[in-house]
Amino acid sequence: MAHTPMMQQYLQIKSEVPNALLMFRLGDFYELFFDDAVEASRILEITLTGRDAGSAGRIPMCGVPYHAVEQYIAKLVDRGYAVALCDQTEDPKQAKGLVKREIVRIVTPGTATHDEGAVRRLLAALVHRDDTCGLALLDVATGDVWVAETSDMERIREQFFLHAPVEVLLYEHVDLSSPGFAWLEAWRAQAEVCAVTRRTEPRKAVERAFDVVRGKYQMSSLTPLDLEESPRAVEALAMVLDYVAETQKLAVPHVKTPQNLLQTGVMTLDYTAQRNLEVFETVRHRQRKGSLMDLLDETRTAMGARILRQWLEQPLCSVQAIEDRLDAVETFVNDLFLREHVRRTLADVYDLDRLSGRVAFGTANARDLLAVAKSLSALPSLTGPLLDTGSTLLCELAGALPDCQALAARILDTLQDEPPVSVREGGMIRPGVDAVLDELRSANASGKAWLAELEQRERERTGIKSLKVGYNKVFGYYIEVSKSNQHLVPPEYERRQTLSTGERYVLPALKEKEASILNAEERAVEREYELFSALRQAVLAKLPDIQAAAHQIGVVDALCSLGHVSAERRYVRPRLKTARGIVIEKGRHPVVEAARPGQFVANDARLDDEQQFILLTGPNMAGKSTYMRQIALIVLMAHVGCFVPAASAEIGLVDRIFTRIGASDDLGAGQSTFMVEMVELAQILRQATDRSLVLLDEIGRGTSTYDGLCIAEAVMEALQEPGRSPLTLFATHYHELVAAAEQLPRVANYSVAVRESENDIAFLHTVVNRPADKSYGIQVARLAGIPGPVIERALALLEVRESAMVPGGEAAARPGADPVDGLVASVREAAAGRTDGSASAVAAAANGSDLAWVEALA
Ligand code: ADP
Repeated sequence: MAHTPMMQQYLQIKSEVPNALLMFRLGDFYELFFDDAVEASRILEITLTGRDAGSAGRIPMCGVPYHAVEQYIAKLVDRGYAVALCDQTEDPKQAKGLVKREIVRIVTPGTATHDEGAVRRLLAALVHRDDTCGLALLDVATGDVWVAETSDMERIREQFFLHAPVEVLLYEHVDLSSPGFAWLEAWRAQAEVCAVTRRTEPRKAVERAFDVVRGKYQMSSLTPLDLEESPRAVEALAMVLDYVAETQKLAVPHVKTPQNLLQTGVMTLDYTAQRNLEVFETVRHRQRKGSLMDLLDETRTAMGARILRQWLEQPLCSVQAIEDRLDAVETFVNDLFLREHVRRTLADVYDLDRLSGRVAFGTANARDLLAVAKSLSALPSLTGPLLDTGSTLLCELAGALPDCQALAARILDTLQDEPPVSVREGGMIRPGVDAVLDELRSANASGKAWLAELEQRERERTGIKSLKVGYNKVFGYYIEVSKSNQHLVPPEYERRQTLSTGERYVLPALKEKEASILNAEERAVEREYELFSALRQAVLAKLPDIQAAAHQIGVVDALCSLGHVSAERRYVRPRLKTARGIVIEKGRHPVVEAARPGQFVANDARLDDEQQFILLTGPNMAGKSTYMRQIALIVLMAHVGCFVPAASAEIGLVDRIFTRIGASDDLGAGQSTFMVEMVELAQILRQATDRSLVLLDEIGRGTSTYDGLCIAEAVMEALQEPGRSPLTLFATHYHELVAAAEQLPRVANYSVAVRESENDIAFLHTVVNRPADKSYGIQVARLAGIPGPVIERALALLEVRESAMVPGGEAAARPGADPVDGLVASVREAAAGRTDGSASAVAAAANGSDLAWVEALA
């Protein structure tokens, strides 16, 4: 027995999309078969059933109702699957035999558009040829697109980590197991979703790519996009454009002009720094709450939030550009009235980028168009007030705001105030908009009136008070008479349907009228759809203006947000300069301060040519990390053009912020903690310049104390080399480094002060210009709740060890060595033996004391 004809059709279509789950429309359901069904039923938690499929016997099947399909697709896609949607493409009533079906859309992780708000879902394409790599990233929903081309694979890797695309397109022949792509596999292993989709390399791929991109942007050369000399980037860009067009089955008019990911003239904030400084999410819980973005984001629109995110990703590196932003932010800081006006106005503005995407894909409904219109018509009230400010940037933005009022008015005049979600059921268009529609509606209305009259007339004629006219899809209009009144039914009534409660009849006159009523209704709905489509087309034609407006509004929103936060939190305007150097008076950590208002201890900071390196000591919990991070965050915020949490701040431009912080990062990425630490350190030593800011926290912790100490000291020295002496903050519990630091001219010893009372300490969080004298490990252990007896024992051990280390003892006698050097070395050795497990607090405490007597000796 052969397959049933429907199954043959299914298999034929399925063969077009072997890598996607095929959802096959059958009546009111989308069905999945075979392995697709097994897979989908598991993920969607829906019942797996079976279906008789001719020769194949009973096959697995599951299905979801058509009206809820989008949510099921979203769920599958979020788990990394691609879903192909197969619809009936002809009216089943007209079909001769099997209804025609076609794939109408393929949704993949990188091309899905179901998110809301500032969520960024990126599709990537990676091309690697002749040692040069091209990367394109596309946010399909908003049309934002970025490209990069470089021969430095490390920079491409970095972009992956920064932007976390959920799907990456690669040519078929790319060997992912080759060493050049090891990072990609490592990245995928830790990413929540990162699907790899293989694409066939077209013939003459490069020429073709240029054609595709030139065609898309309607340019005869790609020089205006700065891509004429970047064939790999163009190839990658063409790959994403092709793929989206292919999966969505249409062109993508809303895709904007590409931005360069590897832009020069911006500050580099690499993935490690972004993570360690908790710019977008916290290190520990990977949540937005507690991040800098969360604090600074008082935007009112999704566009504003996206722009702010981009600013934090690529801080500026030009004094002029930063000053322009600061002027605008200052305007908002000083003008509460303006700020409130902008915030109130923008609260009525919807996500114009996503709406543009829906218009481009033809999925926008009447509510979406209304949202576009309401957003656009909110904008003119901003123009005047912004033009009145003295800010160059705000005036420029307001002046460049495209005029879309005619379109907004047309939408508002055409659509009902509360149109339905569906665009196929009428009820969208206002009366008076279209004569044809009005006529059809009035024909329909008079038909309905006729029905009401008929009902009244028949009640009187037959004497059946409860007689009523009704409608259903199968029988059309009918007259219903209850059981108890059957004896009154006149003979000309034709019975059509028997119910438990009564009977349904028709009359010839009723049937006659029915045709014209239904006809009018159907045509009215049809006409509404035509009018709506025309309106959507008009919006599509204005898409570039709408997108431009969305961008300008996003920028105004982001500036206003920075102004709002700066004013509310009493930040000050930083003074930027081109020469290097950082002077901060009474600086605060923006996020720590926000979590505990009024309790933050402000601290000064100075880093410049004379004091280029600060060695920061102090016990755990004193506030070393907080202090270092607050300096980096203040520098970062200044480069974004935001006011900063300080009494005053003078910030020289920084080309890059490097961080090496914490020991718990990147666990699970397959490398040991120490290895990760060393890799990051190597990168800093290779890449940091005089213009960089470097934060190092507890370098060398992941190995034995002795090794770690030596590495730390060598790193400290290396960061003094001419041309490679970045402004550096170095926190450590190795007190031995204090003495070494004193030998270096541009290194200063600082510590975070604590107040000590008998066996107890209080953290003052004050940074002072002297090294810590002890490490207070045991006191910290006590604070942490280590039981009393253990603490007592530790103190006793400490005493024993300290006396064992008395000068002249065995450890000090090293033939041939300089006496003091020998002592330091033996202290280091002694410390090396005491680092494991629970003894580390003891060791740390002992280190401090050891050093005290070494110093006393020297
Ligand atoms: P360390 O790096 O020295 O171990 P942290 O920087 O992690 O210390 O700070 C320890 C705790 O002290 C944190 O909970 C932090 O919120 C708090 N803290 C740090 N600096 C300050 C400060 N300047 N004012 C108030 N609280 C602070």
